[in-house]
Amino acid sequence: MFLATGNPDKRAELQELLTPLGIPLQCIADLAERERLDVVEDALTLLGNAIKKARFWAQRQSTDAIADDTGLFVELLDGAPGVYSARYAGLEATYQDNVAKLLEEVQTALKTRGLPLSTPIKAHFATVMVWARHVDQRIQIHAVEGRCEGVLVPTPRGAKGFGYDPIFVPNTPAESHKTFAELTPDQKNEVSHRARAVRMLVSVIKEQTLKTR
Ligand code: IMP
Repeated sequence: MFLATGNPDKRAELQELLTPLGIPLQCIADLAERERLDVVEDALTLLGNAIKKARFWAQRQSTDAIADDTGLFVELLDGAPGVYSARYAGLEATYQDNVAKLLEEVQTALKTRGLPLSTPIKAHFATVMVWARHVDQRIQIHAVEGRCEGVLVPTPRGAKGFGYDPIFVPNTPAESHKTFAELTPDQKNEVSHRARAVRMLVSVIKEQTLKTR
């Protein structure tokens, strides 16, 4: 199975979650440098991008491939940054740039709409995972979506995780009020969008693999 990610943070999370499958995984980082190609993520949806990546790597590696695409959707910003989460503050943006821009946009939207600064900023992460599977000379696509609902905090907290983790407080565990960046990887994996998507995909892979045995 080929895991279509070059992001070491995601790869570590995914590998841990996929290990129970007992299927050997290869990732983009395991390829020779000249083989580490970029698939342009220009679809308008997470699903479109995930299918594009999974199909490309399944064809190129002649093996089944898994790809994902994730976004943070903020209700007050009509779903932004959404599918543009990775490059919200520009193509070369760092995680910190994206977080800073998002917090600015939230402040602006609150002011523009005349809402108090204490308004809860509802948001959710969504991960779409696609398994591109070789069946009878064709590539069959299976897709699942995992979500994690929560709220944004105005000041980043915590040093773990990556991306928007320091400003996102998941609704569960309800009593914690900790950002994703303050939770341990295991705690994040209990409730995260990606972990939920991986668990769903693992079930689909098991079910389909058993069916065709
Ligand atoms: P990707 O599709 O998984 O690369 O995610 C796109 C962008 O969303 C990343 O560059 C991160 O900024 C953000 N992101 C994805 N997953 C997470 C997460 O679990 N926590 C925080 N931010 C994330």
